[in-house]
Amino acid sequence: MTCRVPVQQSTIRKKAPMTTDITIIGAGLGGLTLARVLHVHGIPATVYEAEPSPAARSQGGMLDIHDYNGQLALETAGLMDEFRGLIIEGRQAMRVLDPEGTLLHELADDGTGGRPEVLRGELRQILLDSLPAGTVQWGHKVSGTRTLGDGRHEVTFADGSTVVTGLLVGADGAWSRVRPLLSAATPEYIGKSVVETYLFDADTRHPAVAKAVGAGAMIVLTPDKEIFAHREKGDTLHAYVGLYESQDWFAAVDFADAAGATARIAQEFSGWAPELTALITDGDIAPVLRPLYALPTGHRWDRVPGVTLLGDAAHLSAPNGEGANLAMLDGAELGKALAAHPDDIETALTEYEQAMFPRSAEAATFEGAEAHGPDSDNSTAHDLIVAFTQQQQSP
Ligand SMILES: Cc1cc2nc3c(=O)[nH]c(=O)nc-3n(C[C@H](O)[C@H](O)[C@H](O)COP(=O)(O)OP(=O)(O)OC[C@H]3O[C@@H](n4cnc5c(N)ncnc54)[C@H](O)[C@@H]3O)c2cc1C
Repeated sequence: MTCRVPVQQSTIRKKAPMTTDITIIGAGLGGLTLARVLHVHGIPATVYEAEPSPAARSQGGMLDIHDYNGQLALETAGLMDEFRGLIIEGRQAMRVLDPEGTLLHELADDGTGGRPEVLRGELRQILLDSLPAGTVQWGHKVSGTRTLGDGRHEVTFADGSTVVTGLLVGADGAWSRVRPLLSAATPEYIGKSVVETYLFDADTRHPAVAKAVGAGAMIVLTPDKEIFAHREKGDTLHAYVGLYESQDWFAAVDFADAAGATARIAQEFSGWAPELTALITDGDIAPVLRPLYALPTGHRWDRVPGVTLLGDAAHLSAPNGEGANLAMLDGAELGKALAAHPDDIETALTEYEQAMFPRSAEAATFEGAEAHGPDSDNSTAHDLIVAFTQQQQSP
């Protein structure tokens, strides 16, 4: 997508007398939402991104954007119309199966759900298109950061160049280079990894699998392994095959040998219905291993002048369908706080952090059932169905 989202004059608020230069590290959904909300308020910022270009990496699959966090952020960013244009209709449907392929529960998508699905890459693109040219400096991988005092920080890039900034925002994800300025916490392996697969043209090439997945998402959940699959645009199926195994266990699987790795992962699912195991064995690309990490739940820090974090850099948690939504809400809330206190960034950062800490801690404990560990009482399809039913019944 190449079209630029026009920023209508009416959506740009009166230029705030911001005296501090703002440096954002990371052009993920969180960092870009912050840059966009600042722009809406007439406040310039520079985003430094490690990747060499917007197209450097496939941005992954679909995200459901929730009406209680991600959509609020897009509203603040003035991008709801563009967002609505990205929604893939029908994808909020959900099927829960057991390992034999029996349907346990089904939710239809009647178009009234609060979690419409979009492609992450397209969502990122509308944010990029909404920023003035040059806002994102691609190919700037941060290698280190240090405090200069008086709230100023120096950022060093991999090529040896540096910038000094009055406000540094770490939106640089799980392995943030900004986080050490605020906290000694580092992400830890959660005991589970997922293996990603894609099946293309599934309606014609893999009709039984396409039928099992249905129009939206499909979940098969057991205490120690699971498959989560989604119908993306058209009839592309995207699966996350989850296994609660140690990193040593996965290290013994040679993912450079796609066929061997596929066979080894599929072996763990022997006895499962063929339309489910086909999501592993019939993948059209080499399986991709994604080990999962989290920061301690409730991760927080004492206020340090001139620097803060948002999104995964602040509160990386086991995937539970909230992370991208929270990153965007963080970006929007921080942008609003800075616009409200343009001459007092410490007040803005305090307000933002005091709301963000409990919000992210609560989201991390309200995990989607797919994130529960094998010891959890909630790690059953039954509890997942109960959760869905309660969701449907709540106003
Ligand atoms: C398997 C999986 C499935 C998920 N599914 C969902 C889902 O369905 N819904 C949902 O809401 N969330 C989901 N999440 C979580 C979601 O992906 C993250 O929470 C979200 O991307 C966080 O956004 P962010 O902007 O904070 O960080 P990121 O998206 O990680 O963006 C960080 C950016 O910073 C850049 N960067 C990193 N290091 C540096 C550096 N040193 N210098 C410069 N730039 C740097 C990166 O290149 C990247 O562009 C999932 C996560 C995983 C692992």
